[in-house]
Amino acid sequence: MATAWDYAPAPEARDIVRIQERYGLFIGGKFVEPLSGERYTTIDPAREEPLSEVAQANKADVNRAVKAARGAFEGSWSKLRPSERAKYLFRIARILQERSREFAVLESLNGGKPIRESRDVDVPLAAAHFFYYAGWADKLEYAFPNRRPRPIGVAGQIIPWNFPLLMLAWKIAPALAAGNTVVLKPAETTPLTALLFCDVLRQAELPPGVVNIVTGDGRTGAEIVAHPGVDKIAFTGSTEVGKAIQRTLAGTGKRLTLELGGKAANIVFDDAPLDQAVEGIINGIYFNQGHVCCAGSRLFVQESIYEATIAKLKRRMRTLRVGDPLDKNTDVGAINSKQQLEKIASLVQSGVEEGAEIYQPPCKLPERGYWFVPTVFTNVAQSYRIAQEEIFGPVLSVLTFRTPDEAIEKANNTPYGLSAGVWTEKGSRILAMAQRLRAGVVWANTYNRFDPASPFGGYKESGFGREGGRHGLEAYVALDDA
Ligand code: NAP
Ligand code: MG
Repeated sequence: MATAWDYAPAPEARDIVRIQERYGLFIGGKFVEPLSGERYTTIDPAREEPLSEVAQANKADVNRAVKAARGAFEGSWSKLRPSERAKYLFRIARILQERSREFAVLESLNGGKPIRESRDVDVPLAAAHFFYYAGWADKLEYAFPNRRPRPIGVAGQIIPWNFPLLMLAWKIAPALAAGNTVVLKPAETTPLTALLFCDVLRQAELPPGVVNIVTGDGRTGAEIVAHPGVDKIAFTGSTEVGKAIQRTLAGTGKRLTLELGGKAANIVFDDAPLDQAVEGIINGIYFNQGHVCCAGSRLFVQESIYEATIAKLKRRMRTLRVGDPLDKNTDVGAINSKQQLEKIASLVQSGVEEGAEIYQPPCKLPERGYWFVPTVFTNVAQSYRIAQEEIFGPVLSVLTFRTPDEAIEKANNTPYGLSAGVWTEKGSRILAMAQRLRAGVVWANTYNRFDPASPFGGYKESGFGREGGRHGLEAYVALDDA
């Protein structure tokens, strides 16, 4: 659609960020050369330009990191007064706030997400998680009444590329609050904010070895999982890798939490405030390019309002601005990697071939970089791949329903169960739906809202264990009877 006027570019300055030419591994409180001797290039997916060379940690490197974490656990961290642990976490939270612009710019550069989102969502939420868990550090006995919580030991943590700093915060904050030490691996494509976070740890004077960051690809993750010195694995990523990890750990006695994929239902009833619902649909699927495990990727619209909803949705899609992640006007940024772009394109192709009707608003994409136009499919059958499989991109599949029972049955007809949305004026209907939806999080008249005090996690193939809130501490403590 030709708009009456265009937005002038409003690029965020990137000179606040100083990216090093190369990085080592952060082990024992300092950067060390990888024993593997290997590095790989990490890029800016919006420009296909190299940003830095980062280390590919191998078995020996992981071993060194686990030893550092074990030493710190036994030597200092687990013995520290809980109120002292809290001080470090408060410090980290405050430094993240002070350096928030730097983190936001780097997150958008390395991952492709719009600066508006990294600035207003990722970084503030990451700081909020450290604040929140800092508050629990010296109150663990209140979190677990009549039990005596103690730390588990060394936590191996493996995170994905869609919310690099935020996932790091979700993992590290509760682990440290409960007195554990950490070896964390960021995703291969988005290591830079985790490496900048090491500088925050140095600023906060966190004792060496309490947090160790090892970069690398899936092989590095597999070494962490297999290492006998790790007491607990926390993994966020694909269901496929999650299943492989569970197989590896079976019988080892290591603890495991898995946060995996999703194919959430966003359900709109005919009494919903429609304009508000359309905003929620847009936010549900196009936020962070749809690289969101809890994305509202299946839209269920009640039949009586189908035409009106789709018309409004398409009109709203035409106003989405796709492009430079560092431009403050951008709504939809770059796809995180070439590999992910290919996956999205092939699933969209399958939707066309299976007979769904595709709509993409007119949109001029930058010449370089990885991009995908926001897409909606109508005429979707439940059996189509685009209704079953997680696309992890800006692609929405629309289905319809007549009654609440039908909505529940269709919404729950998926191997996943991470999240869902319900749009209706009726409070009683919200409660009834929330009770019957097999999803860890159910949003009502909103979508993709996060708060550190609220637990997050899945049913079925979306994984087990909860992150956030008091529930999020449970994964990091052993409980003795008081
Ligand atoms: P992924 O391939 O499973 O990767 C997740 C992490 O595991 C990455 O750090 C990855 O390294 C590492 N890894 C890969 N193979 C491994 C192995 N064999 N052993 C141990 N670690 C291994 O997932 P992704 O493609 O990065 O992320 C997208 C998926 O994550 C989606 O399915 C999404 O739904 C899910 N996700 C879930 C949540 C949640 O909270 N439930 C949140 C975000 C994302 P590399 O980076 O080198 O591959
Ligand atoms: Mg992967």
